[in-house]
Amino acid sequence: MPIHEQDLARFHPLTINISGGGFVRLVNVNGTDAAIDTIARAEFEETSPRMPDEVDSILSYMIRHTHTSPFEFVGMAFQVRCPMFVRSQWQRHRTGHYSEVSGRYRDVSELGAYAPPVDHLRKSAPSRKQGSSDEIVNDPDEVTRRCSEYYQAGQELYDYLVYDAGLSREVARGNLTQNNFTHYYFQLDLHNLLHLLRLRDHSTAQFQMTEYARALRHFVSVAFPITYRHFANHILNGVRFSADELEFLQIDETKLRQAEKKFSKGRLSELHEKVERVRAAIKH
Ligand SMILES: Cc1cc2nc3c(=O)[nH]c(=O)nc-3n(C[C@H](O)[C@H](O)[C@H](O)COP(=O)(O)OP(=O)(O)OC[C@H]3O[C@@H](n4cnc5c(N)ncnc54)[C@H](O)[C@@H]3O)c2cc1C
Repeated sequence: MPIHEQDLARFHPLTINISGGGFVRLVNVNGTDAAIDTIARAEFEETSPRMPDEVDSILSYMIRHTHTSPFEFVGMAFQVRCPMFVRSQWQRHRTGHYSEVSGRYRDVSELGAYAPPVDHLRKSAPSRKQGSSDEIVNDPDEVTRRCSEYYQAGQELYDYLVYDAGLSREVARGNLTQNNFTHYYFQLDLHNLLHLLRLRDHSTAQFQMTEYARALRHFVSVAFPITYRHFANHILNGVRFSADELEFLQIDETKLRQAEKKFSKGRLSELHEKVERVRAAIKH
């Protein structure tokens, strides 16, 4: 059930700009929360019309219990402009479909390059050599000047190779920088899109990639609000503990009794089951 360009208006703005010159633009939404519910009914062999709060509870149930296949029937498509190094990370998500501008056939240097704003010029994190900390480099102006000089030199070389020496674009592009932009269409089903958000809208992902993931998250939350709410509650903002971590947790019995007022019978029984496992681990 693709929706048409005019129906996308409710997502306004359709384009989210990413700092440094990139963007994510929504180009299509296939399906709705209600469509996921319709597919899910096949699993439960239900045919009667569902009330809105029943849709809510079935989507919550499926997210909680990893009944993921109905989420594969719907999805979204985006147009993306991002630097090459973001593209490398993004396209590791193999379940997506990609159609990317060809550097063999066109002058991709015309797409420009990511210009890191000062707050992106972060020092290495001491604990994670490849990651970055919140601290900005000592001399951001000098760093910006040198990066810009390097980019400019790559651009001049590319122009010389292609337009003066007649070198093919497919070889000349090797001299462009990792900061140069690429441009692609990207389509993914909702199950794998939520998986991508879990990995990339995360503190361990590269800071620049998380900005793109946050833009995707915004569009997902508008297109599939019920699914997104339960995903955010149970997965994105939930925490998983290993068996040997559980034993360090404590259970507050008074707070636990309050859950009886808050949760449905089904959720309460799931909570009690988890609490019993924590109790067993603490005793162990
Ligand atoms: C913080 C972070 C750091 C990373 N660092 C590195 C790194 O240093 N080097 C590096 O190479 N990668 C790195 N990656 C990439 C990572 O290993 C994954 O390739 C990437 O996150 C895509 O995840 P995925 O395979 O689950 O997603 P998708 O490719 O979208 O696949 C989704 C799911 O489909 C299933 N699937 C897809 N294809 C197959 C298959 N062929 N066989 C079996 N199951 C399949 C899997 O269950 C998979 O989880 C990093 C990722 C993150 C988030």
